[in-house]
Amino acid sequence: ETAGGPGPLDILLAAPRGFCAGVDRAIQIVDRALERYGRPVYVRHEIVHNRYVVESLQARGAVFVDTLEEVPDGVPVVFSAHGVPKSVPAEAEARGLFYLDATCPLVSKVHVDADRHHGAGRHVILIGHRGHPEVIGTMGQLPDGSISLVETVEDVATLPGKDDRGAGLAYVTQTTLSVDDTAAIVEALKARFPEIASPHKEDICYATTNRQEAVKILAERVEAMLVIGAPNSSNSMRLVEVAERAGCARAQLVQRAADLDCTAFDDVRTLGITAGASAPEILVEEVIEAFRAHRGVRVEEVRVREENVSFKLPRALTASEPA
Ligand code: SF4
Repeated sequence: ETAGGPGPLDILLAAPRGFCAGVDRAIQIVDRALERYGRPVYVRHEIVHNRYVVESLQARGAVFVDTLEEVPDGVPVVFSAHGVPKSVPAEAEARGLFYLDATCPLVSKVHVDADRHHGAGRHVILIGHRGHPEVIGTMGQLPDGSISLVETVEDVATLPGKDDRGAGLAYVTQTTLSVDDTAAIVEALKARFPEIASPHKEDICYATTNRQEAVKILAERVEAMLVIGAPNSSNSMRLVEVAERAGCARAQLVQRAADLDCTAFDDVRTLGITAGASAPEILVEEVIEAFRAHRGVRVEEVRVREENVSFKLPRALTASEPA
């Protein structure tokens, strides 16, 4: 420690943090597809919202595109973890493309529920963020007009149906929302439509819930919080908000160590670090190393939940003969 330099930094590392089972599976799907079929393997949309992950896979021969039209005939294509509208696999089949669906099974569960409600004649309300690929994918499970998107408590009041008790309605949600904001929206929906059908089990996934819970507990113990993740990662952005609302005024998103100015934290003695579900652990280690190069660092992991979820890979990738 240099005289006059910053004193030692206590880093509290949230656990769980970082990769969830759906992200892990999606990356493995691209990885195994490259092994099995060779390069190139096309991927529709960022496989998960993380530039480091995308660039690592690109270096190995993955090609990322926005639309199926950009995929040449005869090469495999992977759909991202966020899910896709039904029109996408339909178009792939019409073109005879071989595709692997990396949609997280917990997103697929929401798709199945939306479909089931529609089949039972219910209008579906989706709580989520407009424009997010998961929302586009879920809306695209049903014919246009069968799903209404609700983003805020205020949106609930603008839904049609005066004196409607909601018997013909059901709601589903995006998997990566703020647990607390969503509870408020659901409460408003139920107040207005007491008979609206709810999901059997929360649509917000275990990984989102656990990461938010961990960050809330950490926020009370730290002066500043870093969330490793990407600005287009919904669950990462929610972690920043949760930390702020839990009383940690200095919460910020950082993509990786190169984007970080460690000296900006010289006045901080206790720093919390977490990572969004699409951020690899190596980026967390990088950030800790950056602080270590600058001042003394002590790291303590604060675990609030155990996780032991994993998802099976598509059969095409595990069968002994390539499909
Ligand atoms: Fe699946 Fe949740 Fe991970 Fe999204 S955040 S990929 S829903 S486990």
